[in-house]
Amino acid sequence: MKISSLTALVTGGASGMGEATARHLATCGAKVIILDQNIERSKQVAAEIGGMAISCDVTDEKNVQEAIEAGTKQFGVPRICVNCAGIVQAKRMAGREGPLPLADFEKVIRINLIGTFNVMRVAAFAMTKSDPIDQTNARGVIINTASVAAFEGQIGQVAYSASKGGVVGMTLPAARELAQFGIRVMTIAPGLVDTPMFAALPNAARNKLAEAVPFPKRLAHATEFAQLVQYIIENDMLNGSVIRLDGALRMQ
Ligand code: NAD
Repeated sequence: MKISSLTALVTGGASGMGEATARHLATCGAKVIILDQNIERSKQVAAEIGGMAISCDVTDEKNVQEAIEAGTKQFGVPRICVNCAGIVQAKRMAGREGPLPLADFEKVIRINLIGTFNVMRVAAFAMTKSDPIDQTNARGVIINTASVAAFEGQIGQVAYSASKGGVVGMTLPAARELAQFGIRVMTIAPGLVDTPMFAALPNAARNKLAEAVPFPKRLAHATEFAQLVQYIIENDMLNGSVIRLDGALRMQ
């Protein structure tokens, strides 16, 4: 799919990989709609790229429906949907303070998995109701964000890994279901990416993590995620699978 002049929806577009993706797709000629809870930062990014910012909690059914309708009214039906909104959590399931409260587990599942599904289902429906954009009958592409934690979760990541495993699991059935409409579904599983999510870690811990990456021995840049998003959109054969973006990192 050619990106130029298409509308792209990016959740979590106020920060990190979502922000890098919003900026990159705008340079590729897309009209970008940012959906994020952080509306102040979303507005700043949108203003810089000629895009649109909509305050949105991805876990809220009505909020997402209305946000996508508002974005469509101004920029047209999104043909690209990139789900980056997410949170991280490091808490043991059976720690010193007792069993992990169910609410903590639910929160991560709700934002990372249900939030991704919520946006994907509304964006996909809008795409199915729109005309094909080229002679291959393509209508759009959805790209979700998992994590290598879906495959090699660490201690304290039971909830996070479950949420990202769910995102991985949705990829193939969603791609199969939407194939008849010419809509592709892909997932990116990043390793360690230098974003505000990581900024909270002390330098020593960041350096130690970077050492674990075989090559290149560093955290990934958010722009490398955005480049992969571009490649997935442009390569029509990429569908129904998960791409790791991790420098060969396999967490112990
Ligand atoms: P980030 O914290 O920089 O950005 C996340 C964005 O999501 C923020 O702008 C935040 O406001 C938004 N957000 C959070 N909850 C939301 C909600 N309920 N509704 C709407 N917006 C919400 O994080 P990042 O590092 O860019 O991470 C992006 C995605 O990549 C996440 O899903 C994360 O789990 C995943 N990931 C990150 C890394 C990493 O190393 N940084 C690695 C693997 C996967």
